[in-house]
Amino acid sequence: MGLMNETHDPALRSWVASAHAAGTDFPLQNLPFASFRRQGSNEAFRGGVAIGDQILDLALAARTGVFTGEAALALQAGAEERLNALMALGPKAWSALRLALSRALREGAAEQTRLADCLVPQAVAEYGVPARIGDYTDFYTSVHHATNIGRQFRPDNPLLPNYKWIPIGYHGRASSIGVSGQAFHRPRGQTLAAGATQPSLEPCQRLDIELELGIFVGTGNPLGEPVPVTEAEDHVFGLCLLNDWSARDIQAWEYQPLGPFLSKNFATTLSPWIVTLEALAPYRVPFERPADDPQPLPYLDSEANRRQGSLDIQLQVALQTPKMRDAGQAGATICRTSYRHAYWTVAQMVAHHTVNGCNLQPGDLFGSGTLSGPTLDQAGALIELTTGGKNPLSLPNGERRTWLEDGDSVVIRGWCEKAGAARIGFGECVGTVLPARS
Ligand code: MN
Repeated sequence: MGLMNETHDPALRSWVASAHAAGTDFPLQNLPFASFRRQGSNEAFRGGVAIGDQILDLALAARTGVFTGEAALALQAGAEERLNALMALGPKAWSALRLALSRALREGAAEQTRLADCLVPQAVAEYGVPARIGDYTDFYTSVHHATNIGRQFRPDNPLLPNYKWIPIGYHGRASSIGVSGQAFHRPRGQTLAAGATQPSLEPCQRLDIELELGIFVGTGNPLGEPVPVTEAEDHVFGLCLLNDWSARDIQAWEYQPLGPFLSKNFATTLSPWIVTLEALAPYRVPFERPADDPQPLPYLDSEANRRQGSLDIQLQVALQTPKMRDAGQAGATICRTSYRHAYWTVAQMVAHHTVNGCNLQPGDLFGSGTLSGPTLDQAGALIELTTGGKNPLSLPNGERRTWLEDGDSVVIRGWCEKAGAARIGFGECVGTVLPARS
């Protein structure tokens, strides 16, 4: 894993013209996967691959018999309603399919005549959650987020002593995970108002976002058999954008001693497209630890992880209020950061999650945890951006926000770019807050 090959060549050109549009997230070097169908239709969902502003319909493509061998098997698996079967096949099959797709979508490819009829415009598509997610685990891998949050509760000792040794995580809930476009009602929950002597059931007053990446497990591991850190990435299919909506007032009252519960499980929003680890290969960067921090225990350490275990993925959060929407204004950017600042890598999350023998299954989802960078403008949650609600954000149109209000939409974007490599992107992860049910 992590190797560069012909599919990453920035000079590649596709016969799909929109793959060359300036700023596109989906050039030929990306080839991310989603589950989709035509909007408002009764069609079955099936796998698709983004190319420019189009989707290559994997079910239609499989019927053309365009590929042979391992790529044909992977294409058939990708034609199913969700991507679990493709995810289960493992990195050799994913790579064979990527290479076959890359060659078939290139200018001059003999496959053009057959595949041209298998394209569906993204503009007429709707997306499903890309996999049947059996289990969802949310990590806490940003030391900057953990420190910012800890400081609000323990100014003198913000970071708990286990943080630099363990990739902290908890088991979340899969049933309420939705895909971009998700709208959800402001949750109600038990909260303890400041100065109150007893809690009451109220609509959440401190509704927040968490800027995260989602990590989809590919091949699983048998119960009882840990995945060594050196093999961990072979079990990862790819990454997407994730908003882990959080009700801070509910969380503050309920979280001790077992952690968040109803403050997190009312909605989680994913971007539809999963960018494979192979597509991200040009954007690997060294995993760096300050020299005076504890170095990872041997089961969380490998030469490959040190050399290229982190990923430089640019991330941005925009907030669009109803007033902005009515005025035809795009959302205001409230955060920009990079995944490279995470304290623990994807490989370390997999190795740690399985070290006790816990079995992962194809389609399982990890959240990275809120991905705050080292400075406040790189913070991935309102609780940090407003310092616990004390400093409201001033938006460009004169509005202010401390927490999310009804009608607010949050748009997460992610992309990778650098000289000498093709820019690739994740598309959007959009979610909207509806009023609490009465
Ligand atoms: Mn989270």
